[in-house]
Amino acid sequence: MKRELIVAIDGPSGAGKSTLSKRLAASLGYINIDTGAMYRSVALAASRKKVDLTDEAALGRLAGEISIDFIRQESGERVLLDGEDVSGAIRTPEVSLLTSQISACAGVREAMVELQRQKGAKGGVVLEGRDIGTVVFPQAEVKFFLNASAAERGRRRYEELQAKGMPVELEQTIVEVEARDAADSAREHAPLIQAEDALVIDSTAMTIEEVLQEMLTVVQQRRQQAGLADPVAGAGR
Ligand code: C5P
Repeated sequence: MKRELIVAIDGPSGAGKSTLSKRLAASLGYINIDTGAMYRSVALAASRKKVDLTDEAALGRLAGEISIDFIRQESGERVLLDGEDVSGAIRTPEVSLLTSQISACAGVREAMVELQRQKGAKGGVVLEGRDIGTVVFPQAEVKFFLNASAAERGRRRYEELQAKGMPVELEQTIVEVEARDAADSAREHAPLIQAEDALVIDSTAMTIEEVLQEMLTVVQQRRQQAGLADPVAGAGR
């Protein structure tokens, strides 16, 4: 039997990756894998266990030891770190900055890439992150690079955090988003870069619905090309 597609969505923070990959996966009946949540879980574990952040070997060991799972509940998708629901705890600004630091460590990346390949190899998945189309699944059938202006990405992240009741300031959030992107783009291992064969979508002036429709059109074309002509459950929603 032919397998369903592997869809990669890469791009900087606040471009809309999380929302869109969830919506796209739901529309296609695919599994959604939030790889940022995986790096965030490693960062949270490192902070709780007081692992020295300059000790790359210790960080790599930790990343290989912990278990990270995604489960779906009525309240949405939840992230489990060693069985504990850490969906809220991994989203604080402190963990965001820490994540950018630990995700530059080669050992951490190796462990996460391995896990992501295991979770995605069967196809029928949407993976969102920074290096999906370049490193994790360079053979992904569909690759999107989702971008937006820094000011717009900062504004979106600010609203997201505010809605969760976190005490944040717009200026500060924009500065943090920019700092994180600069670090993600400049790092030695798997920096944030666009895959040559990725379709770039600039979401600055687009609604979520507009981007979703564009993505669905592309995925359905690729499914047809791959001989997966039957409409998938809920497609086009
Ligand atoms: O996507 P999100 O903002 O949750 O990602 C948090 C951090 O995790 C990023 O700033 C980046 O440092 C790291 N990350 C990564 N590779 C990925 C996904 C996320 O390095 N594939």
